[in-house]
Amino acid sequence: MASKPLDQALELTAGHDAFNAHPYADFLARMKKPGRYLGGEEQAIVKDHADLTCRFVLAFPDLYEIGMSHLGTRIIYDLVNKAEDLCCERAFSPWSDMEAELRARKLPLISLESYTPLSEFDVVGVSLQYELSYTNVLLNLELGGVPLRSADRGDADPIVIGGGPTATHPEPLAHFIDLFLVGEAEEILPELLRTIGRLRRAGRPRVEILAAAAALPGIYVPQFYRVEVEPRTELQVVVGLSEAGEAAGAPASVQRVFVRNLDDFKFPTRFPIPYAEAIFDRASVEITRGCTEGCRFCQAGMIYRPVRERTPQDIVDAVLEGTDIGGFDEASLTALSTADVSCIDPLIKALVPELAKRRVSLGIASLRAYGLNESMLDEIKKVGIDGLTFAPEAGTQRMRDVINKNVSDADILASAKRIFERGYERMKMYFIMGLPTETDEDVAGILETGRMVRNVARELGLERMPTVTVSVSQHVPKPHTPFQWAAMDSMEDLDSKVRMLRDGAKRAKLGIKTHDVRESWLECMFARGDRRMGDVLETAYQAGARFDGWKERFSFALWLDALEAHGIRPEVYTRTLPVGVPLPWSHLDMQLEPGFLESEYRKATASRVSPPCGKPAGAQVHHTTVEAALSDRKRLVCYDCGVACDLGEMREERIVALRVLSARADLRASEDAETERVAEAAAEAVAASGVADPTLVPLERLRGRMAVSNLADDSAFKHNAEAPFSKVRLFFAKRGTIRFLSQLDLVRIIPRMFRRAGVEIGFSRGFSPLPRMSFGPALALGMGADEDVIDCDLLLERSAEDMAGMLSDADRELIAAELLERLRGAAPPGLILIDARLVAQGERTLGELVAGADFAVELEPDAVGGLNERVQAMLADGNLTITREQRVKQKRNGKRKAVGSKTVTIDLDQRLLSAEVDEQDRLLRFRLRTDIVGANARPRELAALLLGAPVEDHRMRRERLLARSEPDVEDAELVGLRELGGVLRPAHRRQPHGPAIDAAPASEV
Ligand code: SF4
Repeated sequence: MASKPLDQALELTAGHDAFNAHPYADFLARMKKPGRYLGGEEQAIVKDHADLTCRFVLAFPDLYEIGMSHLGTRIIYDLVNKAEDLCCERAFSPWSDMEAELRARKLPLISLESYTPLSEFDVVGVSLQYELSYTNVLLNLELGGVPLRSADRGDADPIVIGGGPTATHPEPLAHFIDLFLVGEAEEILPELLRTIGRLRRAGRPRVEILAAAAALPGIYVPQFYRVEVEPRTELQVVVGLSEAGEAAGAPASVQRVFVRNLDDFKFPTRFPIPYAEAIFDRASVEITRGCTEGCRFCQAGMIYRPVRERTPQDIVDAVLEGTDIGGFDEASLTALSTADVSCIDPLIKALVPELAKRRVSLGIASLRAYGLNESMLDEIKKVGIDGLTFAPEAGTQRMRDVINKNVSDADILASAKRIFERGYERMKMYFIMGLPTETDEDVAGILETGRMVRNVARELGLERMPTVTVSVSQHVPKPHTPFQWAAMDSMEDLDSKVRMLRDGAKRAKLGIKTHDVRESWLECMFARGDRRMGDVLETAYQAGARFDGWKERFSFALWLDALEAHGIRPEVYTRTLPVGVPLPWSHLDMQLEPGFLESEYRKATASRVSPPCGKPAGAQVHHTTVEAALSDRKRLVCYDCGVACDLGEMREERIVALRVLSARADLRASEDAETERVAEAAAEAVAASGVADPTLVPLERLRGRMAVSNLADDSAFKHNAEAPFSKVRLFFAKRGTIRFLSQLDLVRIIPRMFRRAGVEIGFSRGFSPLPRMSFGPALALGMGADEDVIDCDLLLERSAEDMAGMLSDADRELIAAELLERLRGAAPPGLILIDARLVAQGERTLGELVAGADFAVELEPDAVGGLNERVQAMLADGNLTITREQRVKQKRNGKRKAVGSKTVTIDLDQRLLSAEVDEQDRLLRFRLRTDIVGANARPRELAALLLGAPVEDHRMRRERLLARSEPDVEDAELVGLRELGGVLRPAHRRQPHGPAIDAAPASEV
């Protein structure tokens, strides 16, 4: 890995920090999570807009943490940015604090790559994942400076495009989105962007651009279609082309586009590594698209047909590459139903040893209560997973037959037994209530299933009772599914079912989670909505509706008012719909045979199942060995749903996948056997020669320095927690956007840097192992640092010798220099490594050493004149104090709570050691001492006192950390911590060093 020379890296960002160019710099530090708005993350792609055919920004209608976790965002970011003539930047919805600041300051919502307002892009893409994010679609457009309604946009405004699952029933957004991409973006997005970009560069009018887009497959331009109310349903439906649509030659019905072979689009392994903690902060890989199971409520199972699997070798490569490049400690496999992926068993067996080597845990989403054989559960447990989640979806067999859920009570209980026997501590089950034909017995069945699972654990006589949680959501009838015609349960019925479940769960000692009934009801109104719901949406938005999927922000009253204002009768959208009548989404063709959904709906009402398609008739799971797959000649099940799978090719591909994975397993087994043979031979040779291996350290020299781990013997972390380690002190600078990250964020970011550099960090020995790091004094968010410091336990090649005191000073310096070089190549932008040294046994900790720091405040040009004289006069006068109101906390019910406040006065006499103005660099510098008993003065307070005005933290930086030249002499002069080097404790207090603990003083310095 090439690293930027240190001097160059520091110089690039020195002086008045380049970060001040961020349009939100003045108020970012006051936001709840500044990391959401920073940009500049590692692996972010910034292109020069001047050279591009089309500038595209993907505006995700939710917070950064959510959007960054979404696999579709990753796929599109990679897909578009791979094209040299296109760019894809990102923008996310701001939380209320940021929205208020932007409005008050009249600042626009900007992209995170080039800080460009949304209105300046050629195309604004809206990711449509969930109906309750629609108000955020409007929020992003309005704050981004884009007129809300398509009809109000001029030729200079961007073209707004929408894509994602809800673009298959998009009428409520028809007024606001210029065109929808119906289907999978890989097929058409780059071509669409180029078409739009070229026409815009040529100065063509907006309607001409939309007409050109409508000629492409999968593109729906709402203004090209006429709508009327269908009398049989009272819903507004598309009845034909508008005049403009006729002129544009738009198709009467828009067919979904989809990728035939996923391997044509390798899963991206590079993506900006989130600064603010993403909900799923890990290397996730989509292993399949589509699903074989045909659950009748599931829209994804219908609109992502047919099932398409990635080649196993590509999956293994993508997972390992993603974890290595990103330095993640967690990877995950994503599919609509992981257990139904044909090669899942050998795939997990191929992945786990590689991930365990890297101390990376593996998350597996969407498990079913079958197909979990014993060895697979053992493998998953090895990588640190202690709970599993299943989705039986319904509580009785009858109901599972209605929804076509291919799972039985026996499957659920057998899986529970296997899970609990292996020491898993948590099992969570997802259910849906309010399904068509549901009775009270079916609702009670949800609790009964939970109770039976708990009984399995009880009968095993486990030392610790595992937790069993049922998570219950409400059924929302979704377009393009067999249940699209079914009614949504009334809110009263759903409320009473929720109450029944909550009461019952308490009695049965089950954990329970339920979804807000009102949110589900509104989701249904938009899922089956027509263009009139767009008017309701705009009214609710203007009245303040935002983040409707977030409990704390959802206001049902706003929605009721908006519905009333437009004279909407909600039951029109929630009641049973007649089969065979056009619906608001009928003009969008999912390529399913007419009659397929209808026949599934009829089978549901008769409780008849349709066993999974694409599997051998009668089989629940796929074959796990080549032999079994070859010997089974049974035909694969197919219902001719319309997407025309090639079943012969499907069978062949699976056999090839099993062959590849089995060859990989054989190779690995032979490599392991060879490694073992070589180790045995070496040990025998050493024994025969009678000479000890010089790299081995006698155990007694290490005894007492490594506590025994209480982790399970087969845990991937046990070896790590007990391995010899070196304590390393790293000095680094923080420049640019990284200054807005807290120590908590750095606890995630710094271990990633180690992993990327191939350096293993030690983990704590608790049940939730944490990287062993100890920080220097914390800085306020936004404040830069020319010097920060961290101690960490690293498992280096010669750590055993280090712990045994066998390394010379020269050895230690060499090891530290090599380490520093490796880490510089892996450090995230803005974290500039300055120095590294191995901390010797018995040395003082950071907390014992740090006694103060030097700070610099950047001055405005007109603030410099006469300032030094004023500052020197203040120092000469003495008696400087700082007064602040401090909260008083008391412990109540085991928690510390604020009970009032008191006035604290801090005498600066001994604390503020010097201050002077550097007129040339326009800096006010001062030295602050922190090793004095009592409350510490904050740098921001001192700067405000000296300047006579408040100072934003991002205008300040810490230049140097200081320590006493003689640590045991109270008034010893302060010297640079880095120059001081290692200082041993007095002999009587010297202990062999233990794992790093956080030694940072609590106060901010
Ligand atoms: S064509 Fe047959 S196998 Fe393919 S998704 Fe449809 S029903 Fe399943």
